Amino acid sequence: MTERHAVARVRHELRRRLLTVKTAERLTPSMVRVTLTGDDLAGFVSAGYDDHVKIFLPLAGQELPVWPALGPDAPALPAGTVASPMRDFTPRRHDPARGELVLDFALHEAGPATEWAAAARPGAKLGIGGPRGSFVVTDDFDWYLLIGDETALPAIGRRLEELRPGVPAIVLAAVAGSEEEQAFATRTALDVRWVHRPLAGASDPAPLLEAAAGLSLPPGDGYIWIAGENDTVKLLRRHFVEERGHNRSWIKAAGYWRKGSAGFHENHNEG
Ligand SMILES: Cc1cc2nc3c(=O)[nH]c(=O)nc-3n(C[C@H](O)[C@H](O)[C@H](O)COP(=O)(O)OP(=O)(O)OC[C@H]3O[C@@H](n4cnc5c(N)ncnc54)[C@H](O)[C@@H]3O)c2cc1C
Repeated sequence: MTERHAVARVRHELRRRLLTVKTAERLTPSMVRVTLTGDDLAGFVSAGYDDHVKIFLPLAGQELPVWPALGPDAPALPAGTVASPMRDFTPRRHDPARGELVLDFALHEAGPATEWAAAARPGAKLGIGGPRGSFVVTDDFDWYLLIGDETALPAIGRRLEELRPGVPAIVLAAVAGSEEEQAFATRTALDVRWVHRPLAGASDPAPLLEAAAGLSLPPGDGYIWIAGENDTVKLLRRHFVEERGHNRSWIKAAGYWRKGSAGFHENHNEG
């Protein structure tokens, strides 16, 4: 018999892939959806909705990413070459039959990923590595709560597509305005609460915290997933674990970015 409420980590063989942009389109004014394709996608596996790939971004004027070879004995990059910036992104959708991988980029003020996505055109190249592993949560909870900002929407959208029909799913999502709200394809009993705040205030925890404090949660066992700006994520997790006494094994929280830091990632699942 399968363990109830099991959460499991699955490891994957680490591979690098060079992919080609098939399409790049604005999902909303500040969200770019990039569909990638290429023979290198063969064997790609993404088992968890909050998996991430490392993307290797060719700099302006470069056609291909510059990346060191894998492995302990791999040669260093030739002198004078600069490695491509790497950032973490969620495999929003993987379609092995069509040979496509979709990534959604939330555009913000500046950064290599934002600049690359805003300018992405069919034929452009992108390097990806991973996912190294997946965190798989069985779909046997009584309800789900998914909270985050723009950067969390790809994982939230994917989770909503995967969850079983009729299960209560509450989403608390911070975006700049109604023009940034997304429609989700889901069979869940979905309750979406959009929280509007300007993008310039994306690191202010107050709007999401206030919305979280006002939530009444359904009865039974629930799984809570939180991602977005690091301080906001930490405060939200504290609210549910310390103030509401939510079972700390049934909450996953990750800082997807931090104001003033490039390429930041932190998990908050201990203690
Ligand atoms: C596991 C994981 C999965 C992720 N999945 C996605 C995804 O699917 N889609 C997605 O869009 N993002 C995702 N992110 C977040 C993304 O990796 C970061 O936002 C990243 O910093 C963007 O890179 P950049 O080159 O644009 O900016 P950087 O060069 O990394 O940062 C430049 C500056 O911009 C600030 N900044 C970074 N992100 C934001 C933001 N969203 N809003 C406002 N300011 C910001 C930084 O604090 C820094 O000061 C994920 C992160 C993690 C850890």
